[in-house]
Amino acid sequence: MIFKVLTLFPEMIRSVMETGIIGRALKEGAFGLETYNIRDYADNTRAQVDDYPYGGGAGQVIQAEPVFRAYKDAVKEDAVKEDTVKRRVIYLSPQGRRFNQRMAKEFSKGDELVFLCGHYEGVDERVLEEIVTDYVSAGDYILTGGELPALTVIDAVARLLPGVLGNDESPEIETFYRDLLEYPQYSRPEIWHDKKVPAVLLSGNHKEIEAWRLERSIERTIAARPDLYDKYLARTALAERMKGARVQNIPASEALLFNDTDVLFEGNDLYLIFDHDAGVFYIGVYKKKTEHICPEEADCVRRLIIDFRSKTDKCYVLNVSGLFEDLITDELAMIVFTEKNPLSTTRVRGYGEFGENLRNKIVEAFGQGRTYYGFLDPSQTRKIDDAVLMGLYASMVYVIDFS
Ligand code: SAM
Repeated sequence: MIFKVLTLFPEMIRSVMETGIIGRALKEGAFGLETYNIRDYADNTRAQVDDYPYGGGAGQVIQAEPVFRAYKDAVKEDAVKEDTVKRRVIYLSPQGRRFNQRMAKEFSKGDELVFLCGHYEGVDERVLEEIVTDYVSAGDYILTGGELPALTVIDAVARLLPGVLGNDESPEIETFYRDLLEYPQYSRPEIWHDKKVPAVLLSGNHKEIEAWRLERSIERTIAARPDLYDKYLARTALAERMKGARVQNIPASEALLFNDTDVLFEGNDLYLIFDHDAGVFYIGVYKKKTEHICPEEADCVRRLIIDFRSKTDKCYVLNVSGLFEDLITDELAMIVFTEKNPLSTTRVRGYGEFGENLRNKIVEAFGQGRTYYGFLDPSQTRKIDDAVLMGLYASMVYVIDFS
């Protein structure tokens, strides 16, 4: 990842970026940073890049041409591989999408982020139209320039990149805790201003410490962010229900546990979740016999997926094909997984290379603390039967193709 910043104050960007954890990571080459002073691209000797706004009004506006030249210079070395660079050009603006962790994650998946920092009354609209892919706001207030918000975005994105945080600093604990605010933290000394560190934290009992932290997190979230707490409740309730029908819902429950997911619908029989990380919807079911599924619920889910269709071209329907026959393609995938590790070698032996490969993948996934699941194409149905005989669970997954 390389960050390229178009700014009137490159020293402001550099001084922050060369400090602390981010500074260390920059020095070690975990990501790159380039700054482009928009003034260097002025077409006059006074290095003036702003002018009065047409139509009148207070203040000055940064002109289009110097910004455009700075942008061209920033991206020029990539001209040859233009098609392959995953680049986003972000204009920091109070009129943009309010920045959040989900956006940080999304931005961290690219190769290059170009930031344009405005000043005065902003930037000539015409150059924004030509180069900007994302408008991002730091919040509902007005700053004098885009440098502080750009630094905020860079910091949040950089800490998600490999090699930026040390081993003991995890970017996120990927559990339901994510939807909760963090519990209070304490360090030495044990007593400060007559205030004692909560006894449980000194007990060494990890189970009790976890429970205490969860309680505090819940308390804080209810008080400060009831919206987040609602999300947490929806996810935990769904995960609890899924436990009863885990075999049918394995990919959805994995997404719920490990990814950034929203529960869009949860009825008596059906649920619909959206996995933001993978860009995938999952429709799942709690019942074994789909003919007993409430038709109103199915209608509701159908409407929702049609409404949300613009978000993705992928939707997996788990074990409920009959209800969405008109939506699903003829693609039928099977999902194979196991909850027990490792599979015994004797059971695998009769299944040759297929068995060996599958076993290795399962063992590897378990080594990483995950459950293995994978898709097989419909022509491999015999292998699915084999998988079941080997002691694996196999569940049906139908695909809705939105594209
Ligand atoms: N006249 C502009 C408006 O009302 O949208 C605000 C201009 S502001 C004084 C100058 C520059 O600071 C903007 O061009 C933008 O780059 C940056 N800026 C100010 N507030 C911001 C915020 N909340 N989020 C992101 N950037 C901001």
